[in-house]
Amino acid sequence: MRWSQLFIPTLRDTPAEAEVPSHQLLLRAGYIRQLAAGIYNYLFLAKRSLLKIERIVREEMDAIGAQEFELSELHPAEVWRESGRWEKMGHDMFRLKDRWGRDLCLGMTEEEVMTSIARGELRSYKQLPQIWYQIQVKFRDEPRPTSGLMRVRRFTMKDSYSFDIDAEGLEISYQKHYGAYCRILSRAGLRYLPVEAHSGAMGGSKSHEFVVPSDAGEDLIVICDGCGYAANLEKAVSVAQPCAEDDPPGDAAPEEFATPGKKTIAEVVEFDGLPETSHIKSLVMVADEKPVLVLLRGDHQLNEAKLTSLLGAAEVRPAHPEEVVESAGAAIGSIGPVGVTKMEIIADQALEGRRNMVTGANKDGRHLRNVAVGRDFEARFADLRDAGEGDGCVHCSKPLKLQKCIEVGHIFQLGYAYSEPMGLRVLDRNGKEVTPIMGSYGIGLERILSSAVEQNHDDAGIVLPVSIAPFEVVVTPVNLKDDSQREAAERIYRRCKELGLDVLLDDRKERAGVKFKDAELIGIPFRITVGKKLSGGMVELADRSTRLSTDVTLEEAAEKVQERLQAALPAASTPAS
Ligand code: ATP
Ligand code: MG
Repeated sequence: MRWSQLFIPTLRDTPAEAEVPSHQLLLRAGYIRQLAAGIYNYLFLAKRSLLKIERIVREEMDAIGAQEFELSELHPAEVWRESGRWEKMGHDMFRLKDRWGRDLCLGMTEEEVMTSIARGELRSYKQLPQIWYQIQVKFRDEPRPTSGLMRVRRFTMKDSYSFDIDAEGLEISYQKHYGAYCRILSRAGLRYLPVEAHSGAMGGSKSHEFVVPSDAGEDLIVICDGCGYAANLEKAVSVAQPCAEDDPPGDAAPEEFATPGKKTIAEVVEFDGLPETSHIKSLVMVADEKPVLVLLRGDHQLNEAKLTSLLGAAEVRPAHPEEVVESAGAAIGSIGPVGVTKMEIIADQALEGRRNMVTGANKDGRHLRNVAVGRDFEARFADLRDAGEGDGCVHCSKPLKLQKCIEVGHIFQLGYAYSEPMGLRVLDRNGKEVTPIMGSYGIGLERILSSAVEQNHDDAGIVLPVSIAPFEVVVTPVNLKDDSQREAAERIYRRCKELGLDVLLDDRKERAGVKFKDAELIGIPFRITVGKKLSGGMVELADRSTRLSTDVTLEEAAEKVQERLQAALPAASTPAS
């Protein structure tokens, strides 16, 4: 294609509204334009990259024997009511009414619709397993659409759904997806990591996220360099660091003391001189409108995802100040477990067996010392805290690290969370009616593109991996008025096309500097520059990622690019037989 005829609106300055590099660069390089908050139009370059990503995704899904569908993005409320998610999805769901006043929504994920197809048609174990997928637009009314294409209200997801006769079958479908996701992300040129994940609103048990380490990410991942353990903070487990001081000996009874105006752990610590680890942090949380008292070691943080899973609650939130007084008898800052009867007490495992600790006395401005866990109050123990940087790995005891990451894909073993309530049944080998077990698997195409830009950019602009760059090579004549340069550029351009390369000819009447800058900004992996060296039969081959140039002959330029591209492109999987 000829650049002079294309619409590639590059910007010289960084748009003020964009904070993360991928957002800034996709705007500056003329890939995207915003229509409204979290709603973008994809211009020519973004569409080309997304089509390449889509192709990789499709090839790898086809290779595991998945079948491509296209479902409606407009859903009747009924299917969502059957699964119980019409209410559960809350404000994230875009809802509308038709002319008859019937409720509809825009698809944010498709477990319900896929299950409705399956229950109407699947009759026998002989028809299983099935894996159905689509590459389609999703709508989510995100509370904070930020960071360009990373978190948008309309995006493209490859979502797939597996139906198996039993858990063993599900594990196979799950592993197939795990492998496909690894291949998709490697082929897209991303440095990624599969991590254990929390299942969240999807329900179900086992789940992995595929994440890309990046400071622009919103997820925190706990990583062990010792054994490779990696998990989302929402799910990660760890060995707590030792207490700053051993518990003092003795078994004196709890003793009240005045702590006027001391509310936070830090304030009480300053007041009583004991380390944070000798204090019990008490939090009143409300799980589906029921208060619970949650206890943690003073230096630990509550992990709401773990608490939500433990209680099987739809929603967990901190109690309002008046709810705290109502259930604990004192205000926030002075509450504790001793004498509590109005709510269940759940304590983090790191408190098990501890004694002579300090905690709130359930009287305003007063605390208790000498409190022994298990003696002065009963609690249910569970892992409720965030793993922290430097905590021990539960598998190999090496110190854990925290890393910011972008989630690009998520796979779930759903179990029977949809097939059961929606009435999907088939006959098993003995003619008995059974409920198939399901998995669901999602990967975001825009997330792949924006993560690729986050991981691959420099001062000059985007450095997209070859496999997903909008063009593979640009041919740039330095001086168009020079006939020999123009003709040589045309020749190389034609040769590139003959070789099947994705080539762009920069035939714009611009200064060479402008052309170089634009090509670097939009991130074309290779540039063949036709300039003064042509008199000696040579042109320059520049590599966008290293920014190094080598001289090659006019005749071999296209072939050289082809060689480099082949070296950089991981092979596609062969289609399923
Ligand atoms: P997040 O925690 O980032 O909101 P999610 O857990 O809601 O993601 P899933 O429901 O598992 O995401 O969706 C599968 C994939 O779809 C994600 O891994 C991501 O790549 C993509 N995705 C989800 N929400 C968005 C969004 N608002 N904008 C762009 N891509 C998204
Ligand atoms: Mg989400």
